[in-house]
Amino acid sequence: MIVKPKIRGFICTNAHPVGCATNVQQQIDYVKAQGTLHNAPKNVLVIGSSTGYGMASRITAAFAGGANTLGVCFEKPPTERKTGTAGWYNTAGFHAKAAAAGLYAKTLNGDAFSNELKQQVIDTLKADMSKVDLVIYSLASPRRTDPKTGEVYKSTLKPVGQAYRTKTYDTDKNVIHEIALEPANEDEIQQTIKVMGGEDWELWLDALGEADLLADNCKTTAYTYVGKELTWPIYGQATIGKAKEDLDRAAAAIVKTQASKNVQAYVSSLKALVTQASSAIPVMPLYISLIYKVMKEEGTHQGCIEQIYALFTDKLTHATPEVDELGRLYMNNKETNDATQAKIKTLWDQVTQENFHELSDYAGYHHEFLKLFGFDLTDVDYDADVESLVDW
Ligand code: NAD
Repeated sequence: MIVKPKIRGFICTNAHPVGCATNVQQQIDYVKAQGTLHNAPKNVLVIGSSTGYGMASRITAAFAGGANTLGVCFEKPPTERKTGTAGWYNTAGFHAKAAAAGLYAKTLNGDAFSNELKQQVIDTLKADMSKVDLVIYSLASPRRTDPKTGEVYKSTLKPVGQAYRTKTYDTDKNVIHEIALEPANEDEIQQTIKVMGGEDWELWLDALGEADLLADNCKTTAYTYVGKELTWPIYGQATIGKAKEDLDRAAAAIVKTQASKNVQAYVSSLKALVTQASSAIPVMPLYISLIYKVMKEEGTHQGCIEQIYALFTDKLTHATPEVDELGRLYMNNKETNDATQAKIKTLWDQVTQENFHELSDYAGYHHEFLKLFGFDLTDVDYDADVESLVDW
């Protein structure tokens, strides 16, 4: 099959098998070049392991720390007519490289919110890996079926309290335009908390604890984005921000419930960057195009793998990592410090349809977006016929 990108709105509906494997390889090369992690966890469970921050976490744990990794994701396999999803091919690439390096790796593809998938993880850990010393929670999902009631909850991306008008960039139509976002009602806020809040993270730790699969001093972290004034109305103080606040509650609850194992639960605050999840959030493509411009000029630009490698070296591998005033592992100061935000705000106020490509790094954004699906990589021959029916 010859695979070229098929972009529909904010998503690419296909993926390139060789490109995705190359993308994974580049991240492996990065962490290996940084050097081996000290005090690295040895048995790591990554929930949301196939793309974005979760994939970077798995690569860091395995290739910089030598860990056995069990991944959980929700990806579509390829068929005769259609490619698999990027996360499918990323996982295939990861498995191939882990096997070559003699590292244990297994991935369970299914609904992480369900009791069945949690049981499969428990069975796999008991059979292959034993107790885990790190649990990464990196899910981004638009909906969740409550495992107890069967009710389906949907997340929304809306402001809270009042309507919000702002600029956004429509990546499909290549236009900057104003959008008016109506505030969420209480039900929408509560549903978003059900999907993207901390309840499922707690259920995971409960299930692992009950099965006696948490090692003493096990660490667990869930990822959040805090941001600053420019993104607060649509993220930090919006429906998704309310859900993310619930992670702080869940972290405290996990520490309490799993006290006999001295489990340390942290919310990690990471920077904004291009992933499948962030491309879907209004305002984010414009904001990220501007921060890429500013942070590349400042020499502080980081992608997923750089952020996560730093999270492991600076925080997760420390016995008692330094936390911010809210108890979080704070990793996005390079983006949210006042000087950088002031530069971004200046560009934000100036940016128009006419000067967008000059003021922003949309070229960098678009390249990263295509790369998520295995496209636009220099080392890949996109005219070649490739095997798309890849398995793991
Ligand atoms: P992503 O879309 O790249 O990854 C989501 C992962 O979740 C994938 O592995 C996917 O397969 C998995 N997944 C989704 N639904 C699932 C389900 N029902 N069962 C099993 N697996 C499922 O997203 P990302 O941007 O890497 O986000 C990961 C976390 O990081 C999220 O909590 C997000 O809010 C947070 N975060 C993202 C950013 C950003 O800018 N992208 C910044 C800070 C924090």
